[in-house]
Amino acid sequence: MNIKEYIRESSNTCPDLGSDFSNQLHMAIGASTESNELLDAYKKAFAYGKELDKINVSEEIFDCFWYLVNLCRMLNIDIEKGMQTNIDKLKTRYPNKFDTDRAINRDLNKERTILES
Ligand SMILES: [Mg+2]
Repeated sequence: MNIKEYIRESSNTCPDLGSDFSNQLHMAIGASTESNELLDAYKKAFAYGKELDKINVSEEIFDCFWYLVNLCRMLNIDIEKGMQTNIDKLKTRYPNKFDTDRAINRDLNKERTILES
C-alpha cells in the first residue's frame, strides 16, 4: 500500500463528528492517546521487565499514524511535501549528522523560514 492509497482507506474509516474543528480535534487527541499507548508498551518492558511486544509497538505506531494522516488530510497538508520539509529542517539543524550542541542551540528563525517555504 502506498501513501495515497492509505490516505483514501484511512479516510473511509474516519468518523464525521459534524464540524471541521471537531474532526481535527478528534485526530489531535487520538494521536496523543495512541502515542501514550505506545509509551505504555515501552513502560511494560522498561518498568515491569516484560519482553517488548513489537507487534503491539507496531500497532500503536500505526494507530498514531492513522490519526496524523487523517489530520493532514483534513488540513490539506501534503504528506510527501511535509516529509521533505521535515528533512530539510533537520538537515539545517544537523548538516552532517545528529549533534547534541546543535540540538540545544537551534536557529529557530532559519528553521521557521524552511517550514514557511
Ligand atoms: Mg492503539
